[in-house]
Amino acid sequence: MSVPRYWREIPGRTRLEAQKCSKCGHVIYPERLRCDKCGGVLLEPYTLPEKGKLLTFSIVRSPPSNFVKMAPFVLGIVELEDGTRITTQITDIPVNDVSIGMSLEAVFRKISEDGDSGIIQYAMKFRPAFR
Ligand SMILES: [Zn+2]
Repeated sequence: MSVPRYWREIPGRTRLEAQKCSKCGHVIYPERLRCDKCGGVLLEPYTLPEKGKLLTFSIVRSPPSNFVKMAPFVLGIVELEDGTRITTQITDIPVNDVSIGMSLEAVFRKISEDGDSGIIQYAMKFRPAFR
């Protein structure tokens, strides 16, 4: 997934609630009107697992203006325990300590703050899971 698409979809990333396509079984996250794999419109509610591991990541140093205060931060692709892959922010760890394959768990965190309007956005992020 492209980084610009991640920013556009942040409002949908507030929960681990996803959808599963009745036709092809594809998991859709964040929520959409149709399956992005087969175009099917019969979508069932589906809750994503809270744990997974980091497949790959990049360090974002120049995000859109609303997110500048957080830079640099890590945007990763996490493979959840059911095999679903999602793009998410990795949090609670120095950017240089992030490593591929690390175990992660979901947390609900502030993702941006608009200084002028006072609007604060929240979204799911993932942090290292110590178990
Ligand atoms: Zn489908």
